Amino acid sequence: MNDTRKKTVAVQTVGCRLNQYETERMAAALYPYGFRRVRMGEQANLCIINTCTVTHRADSSSRHLVQKAVRENPDARIVVAGCYVNSDAETVAALGPVDVLISNEQKPHLVEILSEQFPDLFEPQSISEQAVTPTVFDRFNRTWLKISDGCNQRCAYCILPMVRGQLLNRPAVEIIDEVRSLMTMGFEEIVLTGLNIGYYRDRKVLDPTKNLAALCTRIMTETDLPRLRLSSIEPQTVRDELLRVIADSGDRICRHMHLPMQSGSTRLLRIMRRPYDQATYLKRITDARAVRSNTIIGADIIVGFPGETDEDFRQSVEVAESGQIDYLHVFSYSDRRGTMASELGDKVKPDVIKERNAILSAISRKLKAEACRRQVGETLGVISEHVKPGRNELYGISDNYLRVKLPVDFNGGRHIHKVRITTAAPNHVSGEILGPGTGE
Ligand code: SF4
Repeated sequence: MNDTRKKTVAVQTVGCRLNQYETERMAAALYPYGFRRVRMGEQANLCIINTCTVTHRADSSSRHLVQKAVRENPDARIVVAGCYVNSDAETVAALGPVDVLISNEQKPHLVEILSEQFPDLFEPQSISEQAVTPTVFDRFNRTWLKISDGCNQRCAYCILPMVRGQLLNRPAVEIIDEVRSLMTMGFEEIVLTGLNIGYYRDRKVLDPTKNLAALCTRIMTETDLPRLRLSSIEPQTVRDELLRVIADSGDRICRHMHLPMQSGSTRLLRIMRRPYDQATYLKRITDARAVRSNTIIGADIIVGFPGETDEDFRQSVEVAESGQIDYLHVFSYSDRRGTMASELGDKVKPDVIKERNAILSAISRKLKAEACRRQVGETLGVISEHVKPGRNELYGISDNYLRVKLPVDFNGGRHIHKVRITTAAPNHVSGEILGPGTGE
């Protein structure tokens, strides 16, 4: 190892897969300058915390991680990036000796900014011959690929369009190049991510038919990628054309969709400015589920949106228990300054929000347990995760997004392995590893 490789960078992400992707991309931009990745908490020259601001809890986690990085690395240069910087740079700057703030728009210019601030870490001779890879996804066996950023929808509760801006799509040709590049690193699963991927349009072509369905088709026909997954997708964008592409993919597009519902009440959906009603949502999840057998459907639900009545909540419970959903992400409403919802009166009391959250979380556990139980006797394609520090157990993720317990010494790397499921626990399944290959 030459001297320049002694420079170390630790990175940490709060929030969604899109943010995770951008963290990896920032880290990858530093490797050619001789940086070596270390875990947060180990001695590092540079600590980058990529923050989130979607809820109060995300703000709090972001603050906590910045303060922890400052405390544990008194000699490191501290860089804070991401949505919390966009929404409240003043608070972030006051968290301690933070050296540089990087907004979302500045992330692609990280090296320029840091080399100006810290010339000692970026001597010109330190750049290596190594080609700049867009992402490396150190310590991951599955990878994410950003296809778009921003969102043109204006849901009443959501701060993200304010911190991420308008929808901005990447050209399909660039995405396909990145798929190929990730495949050369051995990845067999790629998750397409963005804030609102259902509205993807190929920026180079500007043709309304060059949409997400067309992008998936191109990835299927122009590459040999074994497994493509769609991250969370707005229900109104899940149309027949996309479902047909999924059906025609054989087993290459995952039997898993996450469709944010937010409320089961049409009245409340209108106030939330969600562009669908309960019946449309139910139709979308039913259609998505019917595409291929054993498809798993997840949903986000917000509890305690201003004005949410007992009847509105009852309708959310009704949809959750419709038999079409397999797990829920339940969010307690969080007032975000600048959003339309923050101006609304009739706020729901915290104890009611807590109670509603507990009810839906219990339903979600039941749904997940039932989904796990249905897997017994099935053969699933599984990619293992890394053993988490301090834990002596290993799980993998199936194409239909269930956690599969694996022997802790299983060394499957980034490859898909077939696992015949023999037992089900409330939130995972386990079975016999049959060997490399997809499940069906
Ligand atoms: S679709 Fe709505 S909830 Fe999702 S990012 Fe856009 S504004 Fe936010």
